[in-house]
Amino acid sequence: MVENEKPLEDENSKGDEVKKDPGKGQEKRQGKGQRKEQRTERRFASGRTIGTVLTMAGTLVGGFVLGSGTYGQWYASPSVAAAPWLILAGAALLLAVVIAGDLEGLTLRVGDGGIAWERGGKVTRRVGWCDLRSVGIRDGVVRLELQGQTLTWRVTANPMASAWVAKEAQARIPSRWKAEKSVVDALLKTSHEDGEILRVEPLQIAGRACKASKRPITFERDACYCQNCGEAYHQEEQPVTCLTCERPFRNAS
Ligand SMILES: [Zn+2]
Repeated sequence: MVENEKPLEDENSKGDEVKKDPGKGQEKRQGKGQRKEQRTERRFASGRTIGTVLTMAGTLVGGFVLGSGTYGQWYASPSVAAAPWLILAGAALLLAVVIAGDLEGLTLRVGDGGIAWERGGKVTRRVGWCDLRSVGIRDGVVRLELQGQTLTWRVTANPMASAWVAKEAQARIPSRWKAEKSVVDALLKTSHEDGEILRVEPLQIAGRACKASKRPITFERDACYCQNCGEAYHQEEQPVTCLTCERPFRNAS
């Protein structure tokens, strides 16, 4: 399922708590009179990292060396003895850029929908807070432990997203957050103006089961989510307290 980017209006992007502010027209009411809250997240484009700068430099140098070699071999008279080596070196460098280069960097979204990876403007992977067994930072690497899988990225690959993961994880799933205080203190300071605020589109629910009843949730209209951790429940099985994050359950669309 494709998740579209839908930037919210300006009035909705003024602060962390704005999505919970009933005066802003952010809340919808369901048929049964239950409140449904809008889920939002922040998008952090990768910006320029060491990886992207090296990739750009490699492309420039490789192109220049290849061009020089081509000129020396076929256009200079007499031809330059080192020209074939320059062609080879330039081509090798460009090939390395194609294989290992990182022009796009790491774009991440962090918020009510958990953590999402983005490539070419599309979300390619999303992990809800409820699905994280642990999340932490050690040795400059953000580490997410899922069932049977570990996902990592270097803090330097997207420092602002990393700082927001730390902030959100400590607030939403404090018992699963693992990092030294000094590590957290060394992260970038967060502000409510960070990132681009997007609405979280409904997740693909197929295959998920209600946390309370274990009943499979077949249709999106039957699903509701914990605003805090994203855990899924059947509409008819909404708990008072979320079984996963142990916070009072607030229904999110
Ligand atoms: Zn929850």
